[in-house]
Amino acid sequence: MSRRSDNRGRHDITVAGLGVAGSTLAYQASRHGFKVAGYDVAPIYRKACGDVVSVRGETWRIVKETGSMLTGVKKFSIRVGGAEVAYIDVGGPVWVVVDKSKLVNTLRGLAASLGASIFRGKLSRLDNVEGIAVDARGPYSRGLEDAVITFRVIAECVWEPDTALIDFNVKNRGFYWVFPADADGRLVNLGAGFEKVKDGGLLRRLTLAYYRRVCDARRILDERGAPIQVHAPINLHSGKVLRVGEAGGLLNRTSGEGNRHAMLSSLALVEALRASSDLNEIVEDYSRRVSGLVNEVNVSRALLKTITLIGRGRGEELLVNAPRTFWVKWLKSELTWDSLARIVAGSPSGSLKALKSLLVASLRNSKTSISGLPPSTL
Ligand SMILES: Cc1cc2nc3c(=O)[nH]c(=O)nc-3n(C[C@H](O)[C@H](O)[C@H](O)COP(=O)(O)OP(=O)(O)OC[C@H]3O[C@@H](n4cnc5c(N)ncnc54)[C@H](O)[C@@H]3O)c2cc1C
Repeated sequence: MSRRSDNRGRHDITVAGLGVAGSTLAYQASRHGFKVAGYDVAPIYRKACGDVVSVRGETWRIVKETGSMLTGVKKFSIRVGGAEVAYIDVGGPVWVVVDKSKLVNTLRGLAASLGASIFRGKLSRLDNVEGIAVDARGPYSRGLEDAVITFRVIAECVWEPDTALIDFNVKNRGFYWVFPADADGRLVNLGAGFEKVKDGGLLRRLTLAYYRRVCDARRILDERGAPIQVHAPINLHSGKVLRVGEAGGLLNRTSGEGNRHAMLSSLALVEALRASSDLNEIVEDYSRRVSGLVNEVNVSRALLKTITLIGRGRGEELLVNAPRTFWVKWLKSELTWDSLARIVAGSPSGSLKALKSLLVASLRNSKTSISGLPPSTL
């Protein structure tokens, strides 16, 4: 007997938000026979994004099943204040650029084809729904007062389809990005987000000026902005409401990467729901399954805090002198306490040595969990 008929009324799931996390959850839970009701204010997902998904674990399966891949990225130009500090060819694609609207809308369709009920509508109260309640409202799950605003264009530009550029601006605390947006080398996804630029009009002007600097072409096909919750705490559940993706605070604070976190946390929650129907056990199992992601997020949070604490000059120095291994790990989303400790210990750079005390200091001053951090090696 299928789970759907087995557990009718017992394990039903209501999901608020059908972005990357919510649509992944609706699809995966429906595949496993759960009865899912999903709500989203936007009938068609079009949120601005860099559209990069790092290829790790199950993310590749989801990208393939949705037929949403546009191109793979393996070469990276890392810049600080416009000057290249590292050029890295990692050999094979570690990022795929996707048509994110297609990815999300296909997942919604797949979920519906498996019996999920997909509704257009706002769902803000979840504590009173029956069954399992999942908050997947992304950055909108909490107030946007301290969210960072981002802006991006999809625009014409002659650009290598396997190459990405990231240009840090320490003064404004953020970066510009230029990612390929097709496989033909004709379109880019170019954007920016800065903690210190809170005026949307100014951010748009800065982004368009950057576009003019790096691209000869001038035709913009789409432009839009979106918030990103760089400062939100990690919060995997409150009361009976479980949280996935950015709603749970699962977002890399230095890169803005959240798509993989959204997918993997949703898959993890479905596994926890399959294993038990007891809320406490589900929470415990889910937390355990996402502990690797949480670790990654905590590392990125400490790094961001460190850069903020040390100020512009030393921050730039730190990024300029960061060894290649740091950037490779950063690009591959492999920065853990252990790998960071090894990088710092093995680096002769004075500014990286300084990172040791700063990281420890920022951790002491923050609520970041330091479990797993080996202070003796840092
Ligand atoms: C400009 C920009 C560039 C980015 N680039 C990248 C990148 O290249 N790679 C990467 O990995 N990450 C990137 N991110 C982060 C990534 O987009 C997010 O972390 C990711 O989309 C989070 O997925 P999510 O499902 O948690 O939230 P979202 O994808 O934001 O989905 C939330 C959904 O909830 C819906 N919703 C909101 N309120 C309600 C409500 N009350 N009721 C019902 N529905 C509601 C929204 O309509 C939306 O569909 C970027 C973010 C921005 C803003």
